Amino acid sequence: MDMNTYFEKALDGLRDAGNYRVFADLERHAGDFPRATRYRSDGQTHDVTVWCSNDYLGMGQNPIVTSAMIAAIEKCGAGAGGTRNISGTNHYHVLLEKELADLHGKEAALIFTSGYVSNWAALGTLASKVPDCIVYSDALNHASMIEGIRHSRADKRIWKHNDPEDLDRKLAADDPERPKLVAFESVYSMDGDIAPIAEICDVAEKYGAMTYLDEVHAVGMYGPRGGGVAEQEGLMDRLTVIEGTLGKAFGVLGGYIAASTALCDFVRSFSSGFIFTTALPPGLAAGATASIRHLKGSEIERLRHKERVAKVRAKLDALSIPHMPNPSHIVPVMVGDAAKCKWISDLLLDNYGIYVQPINYPTVPVGTERLRITPTPLHSDADIDHLVGALSNLWSQCALSRAVA
Ligand SMILES: *Cc1c(COP(=O)(O)O)cnc(C)c1O
Repeated sequence: MDMNTYFEKALDGLRDAGNYRVFADLERHAGDFPRATRYRSDGQTHDVTVWCSNDYLGMGQNPIVTSAMIAAIEKCGAGAGGTRNISGTNHYHVLLEKELADLHGKEAALIFTSGYVSNWAALGTLASKVPDCIVYSDALNHASMIEGIRHSRADKRIWKHNDPEDLDRKLAADDPERPKLVAFESVYSMDGDIAPIAEICDVAEKYGAMTYLDEVHAVGMYGPRGGGVAEQEGLMDRLTVIEGTLGKAFGVLGGYIAASTALCDFVRSFSSGFIFTTALPPGLAAGATASIRHLKGSEIERLRHKERVAKVRAKLDALSIPHMPNPSHIVPVMVGDAAKCKWISDLLLDNYGIYVQPINYPTVPVGTERLRITPTPLHSDADIDHLVGALSNLWSQCALSRAVA
């Protein structure tokens, strides 16, 4: 069999289903966030405004972060030069782990090469190495958590999304003697809804279960020091593990867990995904540390961000463009049709210089196709007016229904 023929056929299947992914080829402009140059397939370029970045606060181009990175590169060079165990632990990694432990009020923290790897490795290690462990996973957990749990081969129960009562029923049905781990997220990234963390902790504590909270979409952004939703609600000490990323609001790259010294040391010592990979470049660690430190002490970015999000929502409401109500910073504009969602996204990019990636099945259920808009503190009033005006034009051209005010 010609394997390339097989690969092409599989890809045609994706294309026919409308699920083939095409990347926007961008060059981001430091100092001019959220502007970027887009390279088209015909070689032409044009400027676009990015409206779907997870660099939620623009920290990826903040001079506090970039200058810390440049200084660390000039001091230590480009790469770490090894795994953490064999020569790769740089002093910047140690400082970053201290900063993260402090951010979440935990004894210790452990960094990984991405948030994905941190979930995969930490959940995989805890669930497989704790004898007889059962994992209770929220039905809408991120792929990285699902893969980590699957890899562990531990028994698992899927509980209804954000439903502590269903979690209670599932925990009650199992042997009280077996070790238990409840895994969930704070802000869910596609609907922008937020978990009832206190109620989930109540239930977990009732059954003596450990809790593992993914705060990837909340760190840097919620809580007085950017410690996430658990910090905002005064719940950090009730969670066994808080997991986060350095690649979204902190603007760099990497992932981590924060927990007790013993738990972090356990994962450090038994996790293949931590041990057998090159450590993060020291420059990244220095940039992430600078970003976390800055956001611990500065509310300006968070306040401005909230104000921008509210403004986008109000302008959408004024033109009756339907968006999902939620308590977070994520604004899902609902299209409800895969072809129209892609078409609107293409026209926004080509005709209006607005980049919002369409979100279709399998990322979201069929019939809930959407444009996931992420306003940032650096989107101007003019940017917002341009976005909402363009959406309104395209809504009319597509004969899409408007929300009832
Ligand atoms: C993006 C994401 C991750 C992975 O984080 P990366 O640092 O991008 O690898 C983990 N969990 C959730 C919920 C995410 O959305």
